[in-house]
Amino acid sequence: MVETVTTREPMSGAALRRAGAPAPQLSVVVPVYNEEESIPHLHQRLTAELEKLGITYEIIAVDDGSRDRSFSLLSDLARHDRRWRVVRFRRNFGQTAAFSAGFDRARGDVVVTIDADLQNDPADIGALLEKIGEGYDVVSGWRERRQDPFLNRRLPSMIANRLISWATGVYLHDYGCSLKAYRLDVVRGIRLYGELHRFIPAIASWQGVAVAELPVHHEARRFGKSKYGISRTVRVVLDLLTVRFLLSYGTRPMQIFGLLGLLASSLGVAIGAYLSWIKLVYGAAIADRPLLLLAVLLIVLGVQFVSLGLIGELIVRTYYETQAKPIYVVREELNGA
Ligand code: UDP
Ligand code: MG
Repeated sequence: MVETVTTREPMSGAALRRAGAPAPQLSVVVPVYNEEESIPHLHQRLTAELEKLGITYEIIAVDDGSRDRSFSLLSDLARHDRRWRVVRFRRNFGQTAAFSAGFDRARGDVVVTIDADLQNDPADIGALLEKIGEGYDVVSGWRERRQDPFLNRRLPSMIANRLISWATGVYLHDYGCSLKAYRLDVVRGIRLYGELHRFIPAIASWQGVAVAELPVHHEARRFGKSKYGISRTVRVVLDLLTVRFLLSYGTRPMQIFGLLGLLASSLGVAIGAYLSWIKLVYGAAIADRPLLLLAVLLIVLGVQFVSLGLIGELIVRTYYETQAKPIYVVREELNGA
């Protein structure tokens, strides 16, 4: 569980509501980790673009344990511009935790996430909102002309996007793009762990949401440096296994582990039966046959898989029942008068 520890936060969303502050139409969530040079430009560009849209908005900047002047710059902004809210983590918890803290506090009907490093263009927010207006629940930016190095960035990302799309059934060109828009209830219904933020569209698909994709601009990083390296690819693939499992067997682990167990043990029993047959009927020596080892291995494996499935079932029940989590999401409900 990712605990979002904060200090000196001006006011939580609930506290603001209690204080009677009207909810803005849009919440922009910005994760910030050592981005001191970018922050003044970010403020200026966001303000210019959002004011053009003529809507009420708030910007929730989440300082993810920066060690530079990011926090002091952000707190200056919040002092001068009431639309800026700042959350400061005690240490670096990662981008997913930062998004999560932003989502927990967001009050706008629509939540937009954007990077602090100016690689995304705030001018695209208007188009994202238009798409949401058309009825989509999630609109994902697609960095069609991505300005990052090919070999260690674009190529692994291309492969990862194909893989994620195929495995989750939600086809997107660019899962990695931070510039995305969501309806508030979509992000509220999602708990994020580890580094799962890039899978939000796929995780949200469990709720039955309409997902759209929109080409957005992308610029090369001007200040500071990227917080990630090539090792991210491996972690994305591992995360994908988790997401894939949760999406398809999250509430019925027995069906996957049980199936594997049944397959393994049936094969083991079949091989064992064959060996017994040739031993008993033909008197063949089977003690030194590798097949015997395989039979034993498969049966033991089968029993383990089935046990794992049963334990999984128990855990799923605990998971849903301790938190009174529903295993479904209702779109609407009509009760005759
Ligand atoms: N970020 C963060 N915590 C981290 C790493 C990154 O809040 O541990 C922020 C970072 O400040 C930036 C965004 O997440 O606003 C994306 O990071 P980065 O630009 O390094 O990723 P890239 O664009 O290279 O994929
Ligand atoms: Mg970046």
